Amino acid sequence: MRYISTRGEAPILEFDDVLLAGLARDGGLYLPESWPQFSPEQIRSMQGLPYTDVALQVMLPFVGECVTKSQLSDIIKEAYSGFDHGDVAPMKKVGENEWLLELFHGPTLAFKDMALQFLGRMFDHVLKQRGERITIVGATSGDTGSAAIEACRDRDTIDIFITFPDGRVSEVQRRQMTTVTSHNVHNIAVRGTFDDCQDMLKALFNDTAFRGQYKLSAVNSINWARIMAQIAYYFWAAVNAGAPDTRVAFSVPTGNFGNVFAGYAAQQMGLPIEQLVVGSNSNDILTRFFNSGTMEMNGVGPTISPSMDIQISSNFERLLFDLCDRDGKQVAKTMEGFRKSGKFDVSADQLARARVLFDAARFDDDQTREGIQAFHKETGELLDPHSILGILAQREVRKNPSIPMISLATAHPAKFPDAVEQAVSIRPQLPNRLADLLERDEEYTVLDNDLAQVKSYIEDTLRVKGNPS
Ligand SMILES: *Cc1c(COP(=O)(O)O)cnc(C)c1O
Repeated sequence: MRYISTRGEAPILEFDDVLLAGLARDGGLYLPESWPQFSPEQIRSMQGLPYTDVALQVMLPFVGECVTKSQLSDIIKEAYSGFDHGDVAPMKKVGENEWLLELFHGPTLAFKDMALQFLGRMFDHVLKQRGERITIVGATSGDTGSAAIEACRDRDTIDIFITFPDGRVSEVQRRQMTTVTSHNVHNIAVRGTFDDCQDMLKALFNDTAFRGQYKLSAVNSINWARIMAQIAYYFWAAVNAGAPDTRVAFSVPTGNFGNVFAGYAAQQMGLPIEQLVVGSNSNDILTRFFNSGTMEMNGVGPTISPSMDIQISSNFERLLFDLCDRDGKQVAKTMEGFRKSGKFDVSADQLARARVLFDAARFDDDQTREGIQAFHKETGELLDPHSILGILAQREVRKNPSIPMISLATAHPAKFPDAVEQAVSIRPQLPNRLADLLERDEEYTVLDNDLAQVKSYIEDTLRVKGNPS
């Protein structure tokens, strides 16, 4: 399988290079040159298989020669062996033709583990094969940092540095990062905001000498391999709901458009998906887009579903590429305009094509809390403030109630205990393995919002470890 950039100017790469590159050199995002196709018979043959077998079948056509089928199988089995539930991603019936797909049974209690547990091991495999090491740097406002740390901890081929705004992430989120004291994990609390952390991250990547010397790499949601790993659970859930003998629909609490784009990819690969519902909080740029054809930034404000507090949805560019009939020049021009003016429009025809599959709805914090409460009363299930947005959205815009609707639950309620407690006066409990999280020792370094300090911290840390300097 070969991969092309959405902006058409970057080199065409194989899977292992795409994995390590993250962003394409022309600023675009990598996509497979064509979608592998699964026939109804192939999809039917997945019925009754364990999660890891479905994932192997779905991912195999994408990976090329850097990994054999049996190696990939081992990587997948290992990636999901630490999950708290035997089904990896269990499905629950929550209404007439309504299902919940629980994606939060991984080590950090959010769906990001579904992709990152796989990604960390895949990085390790490719780097060992090449005899190389890398330095992963990331900035987090919460979920991504801990999921990336859990994915990379204890790996000899990787050092990982994560910055987060000091005092501005929840205690559970901070401790999920800082209590991992592996030799290769380095947590940095920055005296600043999340935006400051992100700006510094960009500056590190833009420093080509630094970037080259320390082989900087990223695991953010634009990495193709993350999307690829997420496609697997759309197939898994669909066959559990009766596909290919019935069509199915999905509803997805959406931020960067990575998760729901994996659903689009599954549909392109032959999975009979009738509808994809995008759920937004009050940072609703995507809902406004699907309802108007105009993508327009208008700032970002804090909500009780912080992992969806985004200004722009970077993975949307992958859908735009198809809406532009895979014309990279057109995408580059549109994205350049967006960067300058904070706004772009698609044509009526392009919007209509997107709307064949996608619908969207948005809800503010009050509606989110009311939703958690009503859903708990109705089903006995406690949902976190992200997952409930998928339920609320599909109940508003669902097209065909005779088709199974699968709502993705993206975080464990105990990851956001304050919001849940406000809604239902019940404080959700962490799973046993994390019960002592608040007592564990923490290890992190506090630095000023100063690029030079962060740079020399990275250099000193790697030098002490005897890494390339
Ligand atoms: C990251 C995240 C999301 C948003 O997912 P995208 O792939 O960015 O759309 C939703 N819910 C939770 C709990 C998350 O951590």
